[in-house]
Amino acid sequence: MSDFPTTARVVIIGGGVVGVSTLYHLAKEGWTDCVLLEKNELTAGSTWHAAGNCPNFAPNWAVMNMQRYSLEMYRTLADDVDYPMNYHVTGALRLGHTKERKQEFEQVCAQARAMGLPLEMIGIEDMKDYNPFVATHDLSGVLWDPMDGDIDPAQLTQALAKGARDLGARIERFCPATGVTQKPSGEWVVHTDKGDITCDKVVNAAGYYAARVGEWFKPYGGRDVPLTVMSHQYFLTEEILEIAAWTKENGKKTPMIRDVDSSYYLRQDKNGLNLGPYERNCKAHWTTKDDPMPHDFSFQLYPDDLERLEWYIEDAMARVPVLGTAGVGRNINGPIPYAPDGLPMIGPMPGVTNAYEAHSFTFGIVQGGGAGKVMAEWLIHGETDIDMWACDPRRYTDYADADYCESKALETYGHEYGMHFPRKNWPAGRDKKLSPNHTTLIASGAQMGAYNGWERANWFAHDGEDTTLEATETWERAGPWNAAIEREVTAATNDVAVLDMPGFSRYTLTGVGAAEWLRTQIAGALPKVGRMNLGYFTDTRGRIVTEVTIIRWADDDFWLMTAAVAQWHDFEFLRDRLTSGLTITDITKDWSTHIVSGEKSRDLLGQVGDADLSTGWLTIQDATIAGKSCKLFRINFGGELGWEVHTAFDDAATVYKAIRDAGATPFGMYALNAMRIEKGYRTWKGDLSTDYTLLEGGMERFIRFDKPQDFPGKASLLAEKQRGSKKMFCTLTFDTPAAADAPYMSPIMFGDEVVGETTSGDFGYRVNKSIALGMLRADLNVPGTKVEVAFYGARLTATVQADQPLWDPENARIKA
Ligand SMILES: Cc1cc2nc3c(=O)[nH]c(=O)nc-3n(C[C@H](O)[C@H](O)[C@H](O)COP(=O)(O)OP(=O)(O)OC[C@H]3O[C@@H](n4cnc5c(N)ncnc54)[C@H](O)[C@@H]3O)c2cc1C
Repeated sequence: MSDFPTTARVVIIGGGVVGVSTLYHLAKEGWTDCVLLEKNELTAGSTWHAAGNCPNFAPNWAVMNMQRYSLEMYRTLADDVDYPMNYHVTGALRLGHTKERKQEFEQVCAQARAMGLPLEMIGIEDMKDYNPFVATHDLSGVLWDPMDGDIDPAQLTQALAKGARDLGARIERFCPATGVTQKPSGEWVVHTDKGDITCDKVVNAAGYYAARVGEWFKPYGGRDVPLTVMSHQYFLTEEILEIAAWTKENGKKTPMIRDVDSSYYLRQDKNGLNLGPYERNCKAHWTTKDDPMPHDFSFQLYPDDLERLEWYIEDAMARVPVLGTAGVGRNINGPIPYAPDGLPMIGPMPGVTNAYEAHSFTFGIVQGGGAGKVMAEWLIHGETDIDMWACDPRRYTDYADADYCESKALETYGHEYGMHFPRKNWPAGRDKKLSPNHTTLIASGAQMGAYNGWERANWFAHDGEDTTLEATETWERAGPWNAAIEREVTAATNDVAVLDMPGFSRYTLTGVGAAEWLRTQIAGALPKVGRMNLGYFTDTRGRIVTEVTIIRWADDDFWLMTAAVAQWHDFEFLRDRLTSGLTITDITKDWSTHIVSGEKSRDLLGQVGDADLSTGWLTIQDATIAGKSCKLFRINFGGELGWEVHTAFDDAATVYKAIRDAGATPFGMYALNAMRIEKGYRTWKGDLSTDYTLLEGGMERFIRFDKPQDFPGKASLLAEKQRGSKKMFCTLTFDTPAAADAPYMSPIMFGDEVVGETTSGDFGYRVNKSIALGMLRADLNVPGTKVEVAFYGARLTATVQADQPLWDPENARIKA
């Protein structure tokens, strides 16, 4: 009798490093009745030919954390699973050529140290002590990561496979999955030529084949998987005598270098060098009908395309002259999957129940260890240890079509080491979703940004103000937008201003028992009929999953509104928890929003419509503006007297025109952010994330411990309240503002100790202060305490503020 498995708890499709690491981590957690299917031999996709470089460095907190975990794990894996492998911890030097690059390095170093990683800046003059072959005359800064190195990707995968098998998990090689069927029970049947496997959960870990595997899930709610296959090359030189001699003398390999401004890495391979560029003139594959993806590309490569690398080879030869002395040994040109932002997809598959994704890895060798852990957390617990929104597949919604994905992949690959400045809006993949007011906004000087694909004005340029992309390539606050933000804040405060805000995520929730259901889901209380309030959804640990604005039209008739980017995440989160008889419908595209803000907003709205403008804060009403039906909410994220005006999408142009014609100044998202931070209003996935509990987030006023209903996390939050939170939300102001505002995850220091981190920062024009929101050790969260915040290479003194808005602490203006 065949011993082919017919049931499993989880089936993983794909035996690259990521799929195998997921299997290993599941098995380590005791989920050993899991099966991995690999259509060829393990590693047949991108894994076998990867260079195997393993940095800690990442310009993203969640990804760096994942890489940190991988490297810690790889250091002991050979012993843990008894499978020897080649893993060289050589250290690596990152070379910077500009002031901005040095600031980026300093920022990542500070974050890394907060994570316990020994990254540091070294003197340029000391470079020779680390790697004597590198020219340094034109450098601005050098970052040293002593734990960087390279690992053999095939051996790593086999080691993980051995670990998984030893624990009892199954790997079926040469066994392609050929399709899936979902049973009414929600279970999956994964089909193969050797038989079907019925399982509770399925994972698409098919690497660059993930889009093809994703097609099978479309009948069950799936979407086109937003990935593009790029060609990525590195070449290996023959032996270089000087390198061989240095290695012999020092008994180790030279540390790798990454010349990030020139966009390549160069590392020792045996006694030669391995040069791997991310070239601007990069190439996508298998994106057109004339170039279809082959049915099987196992262990294959693309033809060499050295011409594309010429500029990089010459640049590297100038940087490391011994490179020019060696002949080319071998070139590797392989497929590598890119999500639009170059970050992997790890988490629930959008639209589909009991299905997950772990694919689109551009650095899957270094991320594989951590990704396996994260994927196992999703599968076993339905939540992750650290917030992984940066890699959540639901961050892309329906705007991510094939054109978008390809143009973004080309942009992202060509700028793999690019710096992500806070005001830089990358040009590819734009104009996917336009407001009916788009042309009017552009005619008014709007400088646009994309929010879940929707174009919104960030700021409005006046004649002569610099609107070039180059002007945005700075970490600093000063820039052409500064004067604009200030004048827009002034208008939205002392006068009246309007922000056109399409794409606010919004769902209807209806059905008998809707209110009672909501009470069992949110931590707090519901608004009365005719009113609105904020509801917080927490996970079983009391951590913040999402914040939703609850609008109550009737007893069991609600609108739920959330951030634009949360559209799919929140919809699925809510839908998956609904009880029978309740209906939730996504109506985001049917509506649009205008925020009308400022002391004179009541006068203006009185001129253009028939709303009752005497009703209080947090009231809602139906009204008419310029003959169009609207819904007016008495709320303003900018913290001034103001209303949100919600209109049918098709009426948004008429309503906006009436408001503008009546004298409202247009304002943008940058001004709104500058205003909300002065009020201490939190943003989703910055200040509000699953990294923090609702109590830590300073939201106790939104918890009703005494309500009869249970809600997820209630017990956990109660326990936390009894023992006291270790860290607490804080508002900091800088005693002397630096040239920049504090970015996300800058360490907060007390002496030499890391005592917290910032979650957002901006300049408050009404209070004339640089402000940071963050999390601070509870005992230090006392108004007046002096701390320091480390960012972009500086340590700035900041003062802890009282737990109240910096601007209008009594809310007199917003309630006027
Ligand atoms: C030239 C090059 C150099 C690179 N260098 C590095 C580096 O230095 N460091 C680094 O971190 N990353 C590097 N990468 C990236 C790295 O190779 C990938 O990120 C990583 O291998 C992805 O692993 P994976 O498991 O997601 O996908 P894959 O390794 O592609 O595995 C997917 C597997 O799924 C299988 N599969 C597909 N369809 C089916 C099906 N229907 N049924 C069953 N099995 C299926 C495939 O056969 C394949 O084995 C490099 C990539 C390239 C191209």
